[in-house]
Amino acid sequence: MGSSNAFGWAATDTSGHLSPFHFSRRENEADDVTLKILFCGVCHSDLHTIKNDWGFTTYPVVPGHEIVGIVTKVGSNVTKFKEGDRVGVGVIVDSCKECECCQQDLENYCPRTVYTYNSPYKGTRTQGGYSDFVVVHQRFVLRFPDNLPLDAGAPLLCAGITVYSPMKYYGMTEPGKHLGVAGLGGLGHVAIKFGKAFGLKVTVISGSPNKEAEAIHTLGADSFLLSSDPEKMKAAMGTMDYIISTISAVHPLAPLLGLLKLNGKLVNVGLPSKPLQLPIFPLVGGRKLIGGSNFGGLKETQEMLDFCAKHNITANIELIKMDEINTAIERLSKSDVKYRFVIDVANSFSSSNM
Ligand code: NAP
Ligand code: ZN
Repeated sequence: MGSSNAFGWAATDTSGHLSPFHFSRRENEADDVTLKILFCGVCHSDLHTIKNDWGFTTYPVVPGHEIVGIVTKVGSNVTKFKEGDRVGVGVIVDSCKECECCQQDLENYCPRTVYTYNSPYKGTRTQGGYSDFVVVHQRFVLRFPDNLPLDAGAPLLCAGITVYSPMKYYGMTEPGKHLGVAGLGGLGHVAIKFGKAFGLKVTVISGSPNKEAEAIHTLGADSFLLSSDPEKMKAAMGTMDYIISTISAVHPLAPLLGLLKLNGKLVNVGLPSKPLQLPIFPLVGGRKLIGGSNFGGLKETQEMLDFCAKHNITANIELIKMDEINTAIERLSKSDVKYRFVIDVANSFSSSNM
């Protein structure tokens, strides 16, 4: 199999620092789409991977799985896309395409998923979107709706689908119900917007008091609950129908379970590196449910993008150049981002820094 030269920024150790990196990409085969990358969001999963929080990072790794770009090449079997199309690529770039999960359009739960970066694949390893181009099997490429901005739309490819999918699956969409969004970062701020689009009352549950005004006035939440304020937490007990937790670090579950009403649902999408303790009494006592969810299948991701285009849902972003990534990563580790960093990839890779 041939290959071509690619350029990106990679982590080479657990320091959290990225640096310029030359590597090869596989050639575009019959079922593949090649895209020139224009923008790529910076997900907290990139940070977990760079730092090897989960213990399965192989260095060097080029992160990035909120990729938007323009098609530059298609293989002979590709009918859905043509050169010049605006497209997106999310968390996975391949799966077995045969198992029960794949047959139900749940490629995200296929045991043989190939992640966009840090996965073994076709004799090499996948590398993500902090780079100039990528080659992806057509099934894993999304059509990017015309009226979605490419930069502020990029985070929908992971942050968006990761909160949309569980809200749909767990039935957290009944108008008038009360949704808590725990953790106001990339995933959390998009969850507010879906919550409002579904007609829910939305309360942000956050540890950052400086996010209160924006949560309400800019992002559209109905209220803000400071998780470190015991009085307010107590007053809010038993008031929520659903909570989606996007918290990236180890945290106690008891306060979140306490906020739920009878039959309430706590859905966790955050991926802390260590196990959480599950207090069983508040769960059993209120017939509550705790669940998890892992991004989404390709069909549902397309549905989500089209939903966002219809409802004007995009991320609130801080656009950066590639050489600002190390500062961005540092800020992300301190929950200091409003509310997603997006790399202006195409305008970062001039001939001078390649
Ligand atoms: P993010 O932008 O960093 O947001 C996470 C938020 O969690 C922070 O803004 C902060 O919110 C809160 N938080 C951070 N540390 C905390 C602590 N020690 N205690 C309590 N709250 C804390 O991250 P993200 O990109 O939204 O991702 C969130 C998590 O979801 C990460 O673990 C990521 O790996 C995971 N993820 C999972 C999937 C999936 O498919 N399941 C997909 C994408 C990401 P406040 O400032 O409001 O407290
Ligand atoms: Zn992600």
